[in-house]
Amino acid sequence: METLELKTKSRNEFVDLTREINQAVKKSGVLEGFCLVYVPHTTAGITINEGADPDVVKDILKHLEELVPAGKRFLHTEGNSDAHIKSSLVGVSQLIPITGGKLALGTWQAIFFCEFDGPRTRNVLVQVVPSGK
Ligand code: ZN
Repeated sequence: METLELKTKSRNEFVDLTREINQAVKKSGVLEGFCLVYVPHTTAGITINEGADPDVVKDILKHLEELVPAGKRFLHTEGNSDAHIKSSLVGVSQLIPITGGKLALGTWQAIFFCEFDGPRTRNVLVQVVPSGK
C-alpha cells in the first residue's frame, strides 16, 4: 500500500490525484486488478468526475456549499459539521478497475481528493490489488 501526503490550501478544494495514482499503479506492476483509493479522514472525500473543464469542479463545490452551508447551527461543537456531511455525501473511497496496467478511467474522468475542512495535511491510501485474468 502506498500513502500519498498532500497539503491543501483552501477550506473547500478538489485536488486532482490522477497522475499520482496512475504512478502508484504502474509501480505496483499489476496488469489486471483493482485500485482502492481511500482517505482516512472525516471531513474529506474521494470522487471521480470531469478533469478537463475546471468549471465542473467549481460547480460541484459551489452546489455542495449551497446544499450544506457552513455556519448553520449544528449540534457538533467543533463547528465543522458541514464538512462532515459533505464527506459522507461524497464518500471516502473509490474502487477503480485496472486493465492493461492502467486505470480504466474514461476520457474525461479524473480522480479528485475532496477537501472540506482545509487547509490541512492529508493522507490518501492507495492499495493496488491484483485479480485473476
Ligand atoms: Zn468535527
